[in-house]
Order: sequence, then C-alpha cells, then structure tokens
Amino acid sequence: MNLIIFGPPGSGKGTYATRLQNQLGIPAIATGDIFRETIKQGTPTGKKVEKYLKSGQLVPDEIVIEVLKERINREDCKKGFILDGFPRTIEQAKALDKITKINAIINLQVPDHIITARLSSRRICKNCGAIYNLLNLKPKKDGICDKCGGELYQREDDKEDVIKDRIEIYKKQTQPILEYYKNKVPFVNFKCENIDMPPEKAVEQILEGLRKIGNRKN
Ligand SMILES: [Zn+2]
Repeated sequence: MNLIIFGPPGSGKGTYATRLQNQLGIPAIATGDIFRETIKQGTPTGKKVEKYLKSGQLVPDEIVIEVLKERINREDCKKGFILDGFPRTIEQAKALDKITKINAIINLQVPDHIITARLSSRRICKNCGAIYNLLNLKPKKDGICDKCGGELYQREDDKEDVIKDRIEIYKKQTQPILEYYKNKVPFVNFKCENIDMPPEKAVEQILEGLRKIGNRKN
C-alpha cells in the first residue's frame, strides 16, 4: 500500500509513521531524510540537492520528485511506503500522481488544545538535547536532565503563541492538499480525542482503518 500521512505539529506523526513502518513492513519516507541520503551517496541528483540546500534555497519540485522517484523505486518499497511531509503543495501532489499511485491518506486530526498542551509541555536539555514532556515524560528532578544533569529549557517554537502560528500554517498548507485528494483517494481519519492516548492504541485504530480500505478493494 502506498500511503501518505498528514498531521499537525504535535500530532505524533513521526511516532506513528515509525510504528506503522514496523507493523506494515513498508518504509516511512521523510523528504528531509532522503535528501540527506542522496547527498551522502553523491549521485548526480544528490549533488543538485546539495547545491540548493547549501545556498539555503528551496529544492525545486522537479528535483524533489526525482529524488522521491529514485527512493520509491528501491527494493524495500515493493510492497509500498509511507510518505511523511510530502506533498506540501498541490503542484507536488500532481507531480506525485504522475510517478505513482497513492492508495490511502492517513489524516491525523488533533484538536488545537491538545496540540498546544503537548507542545508547550516539551522541555529539552541544553546539554545533551534529550527531550522531556511534563505531561508524560517528566524528568525525575524539576528542570534537570535525568541523563546528564543539564538544565532543561523550552524551545521558542514550543511557546504558546508560536504554537498557534504553527498550527495555522499547517492548516493553510495542508487543507488544499487534503481537498485535492478527497475524491480520489480513500482516507483514514484518525481523531485524537484524548491527550493520554497511548501511541500503540492510535496505531491500532489507523491499521484498522487501512484494513477496511484494503478489504473494500478486494
Ligand atoms: Zn541532558
């Protein structure tokens, strides 16, 4: 199954993508990661990507698609893949349609107040970069890293008013893409209604949704 996962910041998208990857036996592909990979491999495409990233420019769509095409043609994608963080625009979605068929969209829907509560509780160690969360992954001592004794701080991005902006940006960017796919591809809409929902439960619901779509096709 070729899947795309969409979710706002703080939705747990990365965690879910990793768990789905393990359960479904298909790789989760984030564009940032494949950029780094192609650069490392030193392919002609990799060199192009490097040039753009080094100069701080956005990598143009045709190159992103080229990189993606190389990636999904690899052996491990035979049974499918989970795209994470792509497409970001309708143009990219259209270009993606030309190189592969998407079988389902996983759409994580998380209420703003849960996102805000989650992200604003995040603390990071100044020294070793360990990530804590005051809701469910508290350090043993307030404000101190368990691992190295370093001081914990809150990233600028995780402050409440910045979170609001991040949510808005996500909605503006993603709404049109979801619209684009709406009548073309089946959706698994996962609604997170409880801030304490364990990831394994969430993933179980998503898998159930995917199974239904798979059954419908057979
Ligand atoms: Zn630390």
